[in-house]
Amino acid sequence: MTAFKAEPVLWIVIPCYNEEAVLPETAPMFLKEVTHLAEAKKISPDSRILFVNDGSRDKTWPIIEALSKKDEHFIGIAQSRNRGHQNAVLAGLMEAKDRCDIAISIDCDGQDDITAMEPMVDAYHDGCDIVYGVRSDRDSDTWFKRTTAQGYYRFLNKMGVEVVYNHADYRLTSNRVLNHFADFHEVNLFLRGMFPLVGFKSTSVYYSRHERLAGESHYPLKKMLGLAFDGISSLSVKPITMIAQLGFIISLLGFAGVIWAIVMALTGHTIAGWASIVCIVCFLGGIQLLSLGIIGEYVGKTYMETKHRPRYIISDRTWEDSEDDQKQ
Ligand code: UDP
Ligand code: MG
Repeated sequence: MTAFKAEPVLWIVIPCYNEEAVLPETAPMFLKEVTHLAEAKKISPDSRILFVNDGSRDKTWPIIEALSKKDEHFIGIAQSRNRGHQNAVLAGLMEAKDRCDIAISIDCDGQDDITAMEPMVDAYHDGCDIVYGVRSDRDSDTWFKRTTAQGYYRFLNKMGVEVVYNHADYRLTSNRVLNHFADFHEVNLFLRGMFPLVGFKSTSVYYSRHERLAGESHYPLKKMLGLAFDGISSLSVKPITMIAQLGFIISLLGFAGVIWAIVMALTGHTIAGWASIVCIVCFLGGIQLLSLGIIGEYVGKTYMETKHRPRYIISDRTWEDSEDDQKQ
């Protein structure tokens, strides 16, 4: 049996966009789980369920307001307009940061198994600061989504982006992780690739993902491709490095091409003007791509610098300090 820390205050952060069909179904499920965890003394009874209305155009906000009047566990914030799922989750987490000990982000459509929160909280009591909710299967996905998603995770890893395989945005984070996360100032968000950068002890909890309980997905292919592209371009400058490498290879080939053209000209296998043109084409092709790659390296560095990410994060000290985990 784990020795529990003083019952932590949990905030569940739930982004909602046009979810009038599903919210009345899932809200009681969240409340049930919070009540259960509080009764088991795993979380504080002061825990909250925070709905983030992401500029919905339907009755989502009135529903959230009504829920908050009905039960004090339900609270809500509304974004001034639709900003997208990632921004809605971030807004909720930042709102929760100084008011909770742990936060769990989860979609509002019941696709992610709500009961997986219990093992997540247990893992927190065992000393983990981040607990990733990982899908144990993709049976509820179409063949297309399953194949593209798996290929994408592999590709991200090749690009040097650290993501937990089959983890989306169902995750527990401790308050100190959130406080450090607040120092990541980037605007193009790909949260699942950013949290691993914060570090601290982490683990995964496996669950099987269900079908949406009601309503429709708000992630059409276009939005999904946008998120997929953000995942690479926000966290990796490897594509630029690849241009530089390609430039180097083309330069070498170009150099070989120049020598070949000269040899052909000297051995009289060419017509007048051929060798000089081939030499110029080979030489310029290589030099141009190499130069582009070098400039790209600087652009990439500038890009990373503009994010002003924390340069280091300290997790432990051997001495007691009121500010136990300071930054920079
Ligand atoms: N969502 C949001 N803003 C958006 C789109 C979606 O807050 O612009 C929320 C949505 O209400 C849900 C979660 O993000 O809670 C995931 O969206 P959805 O279920 O439509 O995506 P899918 O599960 O199909 O990928
Ligand atoms: Mg969904």
